[in-house]
Amino acid sequence: MFNRTMYELGSHRSVIRELFEFGKKRAAEVGADKVYDFSLGNPNVPAPDGVKAAAEKLLSLTDNTLLHGYTSAQGDATVRKAVADNINARFGAGVSPDFIYMTCGAAASLTVTLNALREEGDEFILLAPYFPEYAVFVKAAGGVPVVVPFDPETFAPDLDALEKAIGPRTKGIIVNSPNNPSGTVYTRETLTRIAELLSQANARYDRHIVLIADEPYRELVYGDAEAPYLMNVYPDTVVCYSWSKSLSLPGERIGYIALSPRLCDKEGVYAAVCGAGRALGYVCAPAMFQYVAAACVDERPDIEAYRRNRDLIYSALTEMGYDCVRPDGAFYLFVRSLEADANAFSDRAKNYGLLIVPGDSFGAPGYVRISYCVSHDMIERSLPAFRALIDSYKK
Ligand code: PLP
Repeated sequence: MFNRTMYELGSHRSVIRELFEFGKKRAAEVGADKVYDFSLGNPNVPAPDGVKAAAEKLLSLTDNTLLHGYTSAQGDATVRKAVADNINARFGAGVSPDFIYMTCGAAASLTVTLNALREEGDEFILLAPYFPEYAVFVKAAGGVPVVVPFDPETFAPDLDALEKAIGPRTKGIIVNSPNNPSGTVYTRETLTRIAELLSQANARYDRHIVLIADEPYRELVYGDAEAPYLMNVYPDTVVCYSWSKSLSLPGERIGYIALSPRLCDKEGVYAAVCGAGRALGYVCAPAMFQYVAAACVDERPDIEAYRRNRDLIYSALTEMGYDCVRPDGAFYLFVRSLEADANAFSDRAKNYGLLIVPGDSFGAPGYVRISYCVSHDMIERSLPAFRALIDSYKK
């Protein structure tokens, strides 16, 4: 009657969604001001003014097909040119508009890329801690996820473990920096070492392992932390981007896939991307927001607001005695659980109105994720609850 795998995926909500739904129910019972929801990565910073201006300008067009009509399956040509020009101006990567594919957010960019690449028996490496949907996307594409652990001092990948994990079946590796859930920005040194390990394996196994750079948080970097452009670090790179976080537009479902000019057989891979987009129904990304994104490639959200949140929550929690690494990007803090089972810790936190996500599904048991893309005021109000939570473990 129905597909069992899809049934399982659809009938068990992700732990993040479970918490979010719990929060809504709890807010109705005890009042919204007593629930501190740190569960979702839904940007609270408004979209930049340029987004509204671009949308209003487009809405004044009288030609319906120009605004609401189908674009080319791979995205409007002028939009793809604006994207390629922007990448090249910022990073000198030499990307061509002919190798850009517009998609419905980073999730679609990833599923299309994985389906385009996957052949029988292929493995894809996930660097813990990782966005839980990666495992779903890899398996749904018919691939095998291989998880590599992390260094708890920095949340960077354990490079010795990575070296051992790369084998003759490795087709790709997903690299997500700035990282969800740790907020870590991988250093140039780490990325260069990853590139070296991949290049050595390519020579050993006579193949081209593809580095899939998942970059929805690229623009959310604080202070002088550097986020190198991966196409410039490793030739066989495919960038999966979205404007969900950088323009605060997660509901509009808009992003792109960009192939490096140095990617092996990029014509073949691009044709496979177009084929996967077609097979999965991800053709012709939302037209109006393709045009909005093209007009706003240089717009940024109020990153200072996230940095202020980061500073407040990081310093308050570490001062109370919580153990975490100071994040340089994205809007997440990854905190060591106060008991071995992070699910039990997250459950106890609920008693104090705190909704924080256990790290197990991120490939990092023993940690919880706190999303600080919330109001500064909510963080301030939540601090007594965090203190009461840690005190409850001292009794
Ligand atoms: N990749 C990572 C690391 C994410 O955190 C998210 C969303 O939170 C996605 C991909 C999916 O992004 P989008 O909403 O653009 O599909």
